[in-house]
Amino acid sequence: MTVAADVLEIDDALAQYDPVMGLEVHVELNTKSKMFCGCPTEFGAPPNTQTCPVCLGLPGALPVVNARGVESAIKIGLALNCEIAEWCRFARKNYFYPDMPKNFQTSQYDEPIAFNGWTEVVVDGETYRIEIERAHMEEDTGKSTHIGGATGRIHGASHSLVDYNRAGIPLIEIVTKTIEVPPAKAAAVARAYVSMLRDLLLSLDVSDVRMDQGSLRCDANVSLKPKGSSTLGTRTETKNVNSFRSVERAITYEITRQAAVLSSGGKVLQETRHWHEDTGVTTSGREKSDADDYRYFPEPDLVPVAPSREWVEELRATLPEAPSVRRARLQESWGFTDLEMRDVINGNALEPIVATVELGVPAAAAKKWWLGELARFANEQGLELDALSVGPTEVAEVQKLVDDGTLNDKLARQVFEGLLAGEGTPAEVIEKRGLALVSDDGPLLEAIDRAIAANPDVVEKVNSGKPAAAGALIGAVMKDMRGQADAAKVRQLLNDKLGI
Ligand code: ADP
Ligand code: MG
Ligand code: ZN
Repeated sequence: MTVAADVLEIDDALAQYDPVMGLEVHVELNTKSKMFCGCPTEFGAPPNTQTCPVCLGLPGALPVVNARGVESAIKIGLALNCEIAEWCRFARKNYFYPDMPKNFQTSQYDEPIAFNGWTEVVVDGETYRIEIERAHMEEDTGKSTHIGGATGRIHGASHSLVDYNRAGIPLIEIVTKTIEVPPAKAAAVARAYVSMLRDLLLSLDVSDVRMDQGSLRCDANVSLKPKGSSTLGTRTETKNVNSFRSVERAITYEITRQAAVLSSGGKVLQETRHWHEDTGVTTSGREKSDADDYRYFPEPDLVPVAPSREWVEELRATLPEAPSVRRARLQESWGFTDLEMRDVINGNALEPIVATVELGVPAAAAKKWWLGELARFANEQGLELDALSVGPTEVAEVQKLVDDGTLNDKLARQVFEGLLAGEGTPAEVIEKRGLALVSDDGPLLEAIDRAIAANPDVVEKVNSGKPAAAGALIGAVMKDMRGQADAAKVRQLLNDKLGI
């Protein structure tokens, strides 16, 4: 008997099948209080200290909608080019789970607050449009901790603890329509989408969007269809993938796994799956059919949400420039190529460069210092750029010293070294390390005389009509001055001396 491989190589998988994806992203809003009660939402409080009868689902407790939560939902919808419902309701999604004390989740079903939107992501210089099916409001559940098992999962646990602090925190679930892009780009497009969403949500100031703290969570639906087929295959839904990189890895893994199942004649099971960061695989969760019966019905304890068109327009007017639009504008005004811009973004240097350019530094110079010097140091130290002791102000000061001839690039680099080592202000570092460029005629002329004396053959060549040979003399002078000579000044003095 031959046993089929667990996974195919990704290239083999994509040669036979086209992947289709659908992404569900849950965003925890940064409202001060919960969605349907006044409890605080702060992260990290001792268990069950941020609860009340409403979020504990005690009999007779009545919820009230948090207006700020609705406002954030509308802003998110607008930023994703959605239509905003004129009238919509909450719905009860009924199921039993210990971390959901009401035995239903207050959510939205067939009447989401925002729907029919779109957005764009850029991967390798290509723009891909992603259709948004809906963005709806709901509440988070509590958090279960399973004790005693090896993996932290319920299997093998002796008991479980439940913390209801998170129960009732407002969530927005953003659901894409099916995404079909060139197969080789699929996983990267998914990653770019989640990363773009994070930037967008940050710019809207509606969430902390901390994937590590669970305030941004992604469920990735993936299915395969034979090349050229137009019928959708059976999807799996990989839950709670919690970093951009994991989104890409988990989708790639599912493509290779499903391809192995299908190509050996098997059927993909419609189920949820768990992503394992350490081993890089997904494992089976629970079987999930489209007919799962949550017995949705409109929430009778809450009034419908009917945002006036005036309010929606007011909110639209407050939206900041979309991050993608802003980037395109900056790239244009800085004159950077796509590749340069990608380096800037991947290096998290966009904001420092913006701030440095605002202080009058040319964009190319700002990029040179941030990406060339400071990013390397930050990397070595395991720090973010904005955590360095050198900020836009210092970069602008150093650049000014380059512009006025006090420093050249090489010396400027040493000044940055001194600044990062905490040796004081740029002036103090220059003083302590003796870094200023020499542009006084006296010492330069002495060095030129030494260079001429040491290189009679070069002088001979120049005199016999080859002025280009003088370059070697400039090199000798710079070496003599340990790189601390004003090169333009040296050239000028040397030309005068040799009569070039
Ligand atoms: P669920 O209740 O299962 O979470 P949702 O409607 O919230 O369903 O989300 C389903 C997601 O899966 C959507 O993004 C949708 O576009 C996507 N999807 C649906 N069918 C497929 C399929 N065959 N392959 C991949 N993705 C799919
Ligand atoms: Mg869903
Ligand atoms: Zn409460």
